[in-house]
Amino acid sequence: MRQRTATFSIIMLLCGVVSTALAQSADVVAINGKVFTAREGAELAQGFAVKGEKFIAVGSTEAMRTHGGAGTTVIDLAGRFVTPGLADGHFHNEGGGSGIDLSATRSIADVLAAVKTAASEAKPGDLIVSNSDWHEAQLGEQRLPVAAELDGVSAANPVVLVRGGHDYILNSAALRHWKIDKDTPVPDGGAITRDINGELTGELVDNAKRLVTLPPPKAVTVADVLTTQRKINAFGITSVRIPGSYKGEFFQALEAILAARREGALSLRYNIYLPGSGVRDPARIREIIGKSPLKQDEGDEWVRIGGIKLLVDGGFEGGHMSEPFAGEYGKGGTYYGLTVIPAKEYTAVVKTINDLGWRATTHAVGDAAIDQVLDAYEAANSEHPITGKRWAIEHLFVSRPAQFARMKKLDLALSVQDHLYLAAPALKNYLGAARAGQITPVKSYLDAGFLVVGGTDSPVVPFNPFYAYYHFLTRDTITDGVYGANEAVTSREDLLRMVTINYAKLTGEVDIKGSIEPGKLADFAVLSEDLLTVAAAKIPTMRAMLTFVGGREVFRDEAMK
Ligand SMILES: [Zn+2]
Repeated sequence: MRQRTATFSIIMLLCGVVSTALAQSADVVAINGKVFTAREGAELAQGFAVKGEKFIAVGSTEAMRTHGGAGTTVIDLAGRFVTPGLADGHFHNEGGGSGIDLSATRSIADVLAAVKTAASEAKPGDLIVSNSDWHEAQLGEQRLPVAAELDGVSAANPVVLVRGGHDYILNSAALRHWKIDKDTPVPDGGAITRDINGELTGELVDNAKRLVTLPPPKAVTVADVLTTQRKINAFGITSVRIPGSYKGEFFQALEAILAARREGALSLRYNIYLPGSGVRDPARIREIIGKSPLKQDEGDEWVRIGGIKLLVDGGFEGGHMSEPFAGEYGKGGTYYGLTVIPAKEYTAVVKTINDLGWRATTHAVGDAAIDQVLDAYEAANSEHPITGKRWAIEHLFVSRPAQFARMKKLDLALSVQDHLYLAAPALKNYLGAARAGQITPVKSYLDAGFLVVGGTDSPVVPFNPFYAYYHFLTRDTITDGVYGANEAVTSREDLLRMVTINYAKLTGEVDIKGSIEPGKLADFAVLSEDLLTVAAAKIPTMRAMLTFVGGREVFRDEAMK
């Protein structure tokens, strides 16, 4: 017996090299590429090897070939560019929700024509609603339609146009239906817009939207979840961070995502923040946490809970600024935007989140809103430190350099998007050219050494990540040229880090993803162009050729077939 064991051991020793190679034989070997690994100190490679869900090697084509075996799929990249799987740091959904779709409209006449069609198909009294995937910056007139115009195409049926996340536009029938008139008190943290004659325009902003009750959204199904991931995997995206709202009712939608996870059907990784926008009462935070099937950082590499998303100010038309809005929007220098949650209540909510050991991220568009966030975060930090716990701020359109030191001291991550690309002319109207030109100063945030994470805020802005990359690198906008070239990101590697490794640092998953290196999840995308060298003008039309998530192919472009 002893003899046999010894002989066997010698054979094993002799075969050791071979058997190790067999055991390590990769499922996929990619060669002859230009691979941006996002690895510190070793950013470029020619290829990598994948076994199961993970990368097992990265390096030269020659070295990667040694990982091949009988069952290995070899991907000859033929010089193509590869990035770690792309992430969207602020993604709600891909858009295209129910209701009239106004995303293709380019004039007020187009909007009215779409409403007219819907009105002609509606029964008397039916409510006509749009989805939110449009912005007046896409319209030639560069303004919102008004109630009187909507009345011209739908006098009897109430109409509510939902624009982005902060605005409704109603026709007169809808204003009557919800009993909104010139005597209606303006809700705190909201606005009911009037024209120069004092007449209601039909626009309701932020908290004033609560005067209207829209029908509940339909239940989100597993099929809906799979549709979303299919659409965005096609752009090389493998991870999204969902800031407090997705589609439909939040917890029902979360359940659908978790059901897709249980079915093993996910091809997109989620970091999900619970919905705390609008919350003024700390008791409500406890309720929200109590309702969640998973606590903070619980879950797995597919679905994890990231924290709680809060909000203090409005959006394009309601960011809370320290300087008044411009022109007619400034209402004679008196309009500074909206405080959606008063400072005292917001601070109490933040402290409660911290007391409970959770983290917050807060929507803050204007610099006065950022002050409000920093005051509250500092108050919480003085009770129990929030540093090192990945707290963050979303958007930061307008900030003052003097705020950077406070943000740094709290160790905050900054989550930025390309709203300016879409909405530049509107933002110029609201804030004036000088301020609009410096909106979302990504270069300054990077230069100051913040952990900066990129995203889109889809469906407020289209989810196509290449639009965002183009904008961040050029500051060009869809309809109004370059805004503030000084804030263009100069390092394309920095840009890629914003949507790969920085994202993984923000979600606390840097040990398992965010770069192409052995031991990490094999999430990667082969792109149509070399993002490090391609002419900037070509970036908006770039696409993914091949997307892998966890070692599994989830998208392949026709040209790669
Ligand atoms: Zn958002």
